[in-house]
Amino acid sequence: MAHVNENYAKLPGSYLFSTIAQKTAAFSEAHPEVDLIKMGIGDVTRPLAPAVVEAMHAAVDDLARVDTFQGYGPEQGYGFLRDAIAKHDFQSRGVAIDADEIFVSDGAKSDCGNIGDVLSVDNVIAVCDPVYPVYVDTNAMAGRAGEYDEAAQKWTNIYYMPTTAENDFVPALPTTPVDVIYLCSPNNPTGTVLNAEQLKAWVDYANENDAIIMFDAAYERFITEEDIPHSIYEIEGAHTCAIEFRSFSKTAGFTGARCGYTVVPKALVRDGQSLHSLWNRRQCTKFNGASYVIQRGAEAIYTPEGSAQIDETIEYYRKNACVIKEGLERAGLSVYGAVNSPYVWCKTPDAMGSWDFFELLLEKAHVITTPGAGFGPSGEGYIRLSAFGDAQATKEGVARIENMMASR
Ligand code: PLP
Repeated sequence: MAHVNENYAKLPGSYLFSTIAQKTAAFSEAHPEVDLIKMGIGDVTRPLAPAVVEAMHAAVDDLARVDTFQGYGPEQGYGFLRDAIAKHDFQSRGVAIDADEIFVSDGAKSDCGNIGDVLSVDNVIAVCDPVYPVYVDTNAMAGRAGEYDEAAQKWTNIYYMPTTAENDFVPALPTTPVDVIYLCSPNNPTGTVLNAEQLKAWVDYANENDAIIMFDAAYERFITEEDIPHSIYEIEGAHTCAIEFRSFSKTAGFTGARCGYTVVPKALVRDGQSLHSLWNRRQCTKFNGASYVIQRGAEAIYTPEGSAQIDETIEYYRKNACVIKEGLERAGLSVYGAVNSPYVWCKTPDAMGSWDFFELLLEKAHVITTPGAGFGPSGEGYIRLSAFGDAQATKEGVARIENMMASR
């Protein structure tokens, strides 16, 4: 008799986006004349850069000719892309990462979830709260999370590190031992970043305790402040304790095209085993590489014209982030993130619950946001707004929120 993985039955329903969709649909049905503005989504809206599109078209032509045809590619990614990544994302910033420490994939979500394959089920996991839910759910599926406590909205075996305005969104070092620590900077959902000193404390903790840091830098391209690290490997000691995830999704509009990469340094060893070798073994067994066409498209991001084009798009989103931040501040709200991130994290007024403020904004401002409570218990009392929308709609949405707040 076959048995299923019982850990799946322990997972609470992923209610956040379906509840938002339901509430939005109910409102639209009751008020069909109202034009709602979506400011909650974490998906990009601008098209791929022309240089990327051109490279993808050329790659399709390669596949159409017998002399340039490509079959299975290397599981770790093509050399042309790994070289470009190592050179432009690391070496040019003075960070020592070799091309063969880079594993190209179909995106950071898969890698964040799959990395658990090479880790013991006994590891204690630490996550920030609020958190990108993939870190938690994938560990729960693997059996590392214990039981889900509905009342606390927490897993019994996961160590939660509150990151709120009270601690300036900097998670405190754990007070009981943890083995694997997920850090995300720039952070989804709070939009805040960790500076070099704050990251150094975590790197030292990980090295001293033989822990591993899973560093998610999916929003790295949005960093504007000079002194904020773009990679954990800018921090001394990180090569022996950290794995880094990167994504072309938000960097270059690849949410639909799908491409990202994971860095596993050769110096990272636990239980006498190289994590690089384990991940390579895992990828060679379970993954057949990202598509040739997409990897050629990703390579084009690193050409001077491709890089300039994606910077233009990032600037478009940055302006949106600025419009949202400044507008909400004018409306008297406390706002975090935005400066180095496409996300704006906003404290609800008068200690209102996340869902209450979400509904107020839906009904009175006709703007859809994301309630912070959906990202973990410490997200209660906040909402997340995204800068990935259309510029005109973003301005209009912010104006509506300002008007609503002024008439309260
Ligand atoms: N990591 C974080 C923090 C994210 O917010 C997201 C997407 O929203 C991802 C990873 C997933 O990226 P990808 O599209 O490369 O799978």
